[in-house]
Amino acid sequence: MSVIKQMDNRLANMIAAGEVVDRPSSIVKELIENAIDAQAKEIIVEIYEVGMKKIIVSDNGSGMDFSDAHLAFERHATSKIASEKDLNHIYTLGFRGEALAAIAAVSKVSLKTKMEDSKAIEVIYHGGHFIKDNQTSLNTGTIITVEDLFYNTPARFKYIKSEQAERYAIIDIFDRLALANPKVRFKLFMDEKLVKQTYGKDDFFQLIDQIYGSKITNDMIKFDQKFQNIEIKGYLVSPKITRSRKKDISIFVNHRYIKNYKLIQAVVDGYHSFLMTNKYPIALIHLSMDPQLLDVNVHPQKYEVKFVNELILAFQIEHFIREALEKKTHTISDRYQE
Ligand code: ADP
Ligand code: MG
Repeated sequence: MSVIKQMDNRLANMIAAGEVVDRPSSIVKELIENAIDAQAKEIIVEIYEVGMKKIIVSDNGSGMDFSDAHLAFERHATSKIASEKDLNHIYTLGFRGEALAAIAAVSKVSLKTKMEDSKAIEVIYHGGHFIKDNQTSLNTGTIITVEDLFYNTPARFKYIKSEQAERYAIIDIFDRLALANPKVRFKLFMDEKLVKQTYGKDDFFQLIDQIYGSKITNDMIKFDQKFQNIEIKGYLVSPKITRSRKKDISIFVNHRYIKNYKLIQAVVDGYHSFLMTNKYPIALIHLSMDPQLLDVNVHPQKYEVKFVNELILAFQIEHFIREALEKKTHTISDRYQE
């Protein structure tokens, strides 16, 4: 007797959700990324009880029409790629069409959205079940409300780390996405208190001060270099201001925040002779390159990317940083000698 059965969509979504949305901060990440992909100029994030009670992300991006507002919840449904060849030049943060389906499978979601020339609509899903849709009123853009996270997957609920750890994780991903998108205005509220905001002025000095606390950019050094068609921009906070961990080193590729041990180490090595042992810098490295030279499709959360020549790139980054810091030190000591 055959025993294998094809899973229904809802069950498949619930299982897949574990990879994309394992904790509140990953939902915050997916929703902000969708707003960025929708060309929003302003993104407001509201968090209640570290996201377990409620997460609201509002944007003034493109919005969706009636049919897309429904399709958005289907797994593997995306407006960002259409064919295999699109996989080689991904400029958007999303493309897998998984996040909304996954989030809707493990929470209660309301999606309110309005495209410029169409009517505003609200679509509601609970635990992967379509509940209803109705007309609503809204300016162009999207508001997604995620409530009672993991209410139907109690095992996941227990797995969530401490409240403090979740709070840090949410602020951390908010910070990186804000630092990756200097032209977008961001606001983060936690339990109705404004925690952070940026002004979207495309000014890294102002942006870094807003994220890490004012005045740290006083002696900041900026460089803009090219290496084999890769543009490498660095924003190096003065080595006088240090951290005891590496976590305030951020690497971005084509406006995507990535976690890459070798490139982070390259930043540490570039600062090496300017810092005391066990002290680490605050620095941003923005890389712009042809998307064909990198593979973002390594893991569902897309923090990891594969570069074609990572080692040489790491070496170059280290070199540019050392050079920029040395130049700065020289200018200062020259001034003393005058
Ligand atoms: P992906 O981002 O990989 O395409 P998602 O499940 O996150 O997959 O979203 C599915 C689709 O829903 C997106 O491709 C996009 O067309 C639409 N969408 C999601 N969020 C927004 C938003 N904030 N504004 C406009 N469209 C959105
Ligand atoms: Mg997405």
